[in-house]
Amino acid sequence: MLFSTSPLAFFPLLDFDIQFTSHFLHFELKSDRTNNMDNIAVPHDYWMQKALAEAQQAASEDEVPVGAVIVLDGRVIASAHNQREQLHDPTAHAEMIAITQATESVGDWRLERCTLYVTLEPCPMCSGAILQARIPKVVYGASDPKAGAVDSLFQLLNDSRLNHECEVTSGIMAQECGGILTEFFRRQRALGKK
Ligand SMILES: [Zn+2]
Repeated sequence: MLFSTSPLAFFPLLDFDIQFTSHFLHFELKSDRTNNMDNIAVPHDYWMQKALAEAQQAASEDEVPVGAVIVLDGRVIASAHNQREQLHDPTAHAEMIAITQATESVGDWRLERCTLYVTLEPCPMCSGAILQARIPKVVYGASDPKAGAVDSLFQLLNDSRLNHECEVTSGIMAQECGGILTEFFRRQRALGKK
């Protein structure tokens, strides 16, 4: 596979405009001859893999496995997973924690050049926080038919009545992102926990 080693190795080659999507890779390449990380796109799968690693960490801590990373200028500035049980906090979703980390990292409540990657479709609370933080791009993995507020139940990130809208990409590594949740709840049921 083209990016089986490191997608970074291909950066010098990126001097053309192309959009490419396949079952395995989802990425956009934009014209860039200046090596400006803003304009060089890494495959969405690359960042989603990092969010998925956070979800796996959550599972190992007996938390519902959802992970999120926030990317700015080609690097991760926030990385978090759901910690609702450990923190006894209903707001401790992966996205909420990541947003707080990112605002600390940039020193501004506005995350206007950031992209949020999250393994599960954001809920109404997290979608609200995404709008408040002015995050322009959100990429999520699995859909959440029971609580999703981006596409499933509500479309909060693309509601023209609100003062901010987001570019949304969905279904990135959906099978892996959803699978870890399915497996978590299957195990919880087997243990009689939920
Ligand atoms: Zn949420």
